[in-house]
Amino acid sequence: MVNIKLEVADTPKTVKLFLENAYLKEYTCRVLKIIRDRGSRAYIVLDKSIFHPRGGGQPSDLGIIMKGAKKFEVRKVLEINGVLVHYGKLIGSNFTNGELVKCILNWKLRYSIMRFHTAGHILDYALMKVYGRTVNTLDAFHGPPTAYIHYEGKMPTEEKINEIEAAANEIVAKRIPVKIKYVNRENLYDFAFNAPNLNRLPKSNKYRIVIIENVNGIPCTGTHVANTGEIGRIIVSKCERTEAGFKLNYIVE
Ligand SMILES: [Zn+2]
Repeated sequence: MVNIKLEVADTPKTVKLFLENAYLKEYTCRVLKIIRDRGSRAYIVLDKSIFHPRGGGQPSDLGIIMKGAKKFEVRKVLEINGVLVHYGKLIGSNFTNGELVKCILNWKLRYSIMRFHTAGHILDYALMKVYGRTVNTLDAFHGPPTAYIHYEGKMPTEEKINEIEAAANEIVAKRIPVKIKYVNRENLYDFAFNAPNLNRLPKSNKYRIVIIENVNGIPCTGTHVANTGEIGRIIVSKCERTEAGFKLNYIVE
């Protein structure tokens, strides 16, 4: 059994290309480490990556890493202390350390995640508008087939759900650019606004804020679309009561 944490303990942190450009579909990266698992399964660490790991409410990206006839199907991406570890299946012979390989993202899946994730930010705003205050979240899943956001507090009535949906789609229709800004701790509150969970934000010297002008500025390291108009329609498909609050299930189409 591979102890992956131990295996990557000395590996340099991976450059996360998706933080600067979520629209990178292909990129050439260098193999830093290959750790074989059972059969054709393996873990691959690269110097840079376009694959977003599972976490922060996002499912793992999928795709292919290849060089000539050598292929690796990326089935899961994990982050271990800043190192992105691509887990999957080797087809053909193994890569060698130091080799340059072509990474190709499953773009259909990623773009769908980007739309779902940005819709999540907009739903946070829509709830704030309807409740008259920001509503903290407990957890979320921004991916197909059905995404959800688990909010704290009282479950909205049917009428309020309709208001939330309308407020969200109004932001989509306005086609507002989605911008990224890096700020330090002193400037955090100049740029983070209308954001849930700010009181729980981990301490850091640098924050990445996802800003939708006049809507919200949320500290977030996920992948988003560049304009709210790309989302399409946001539909609240189901709302269910939980012990701590309610789960708002949603789709984008
Ligand atoms: Zn986000």
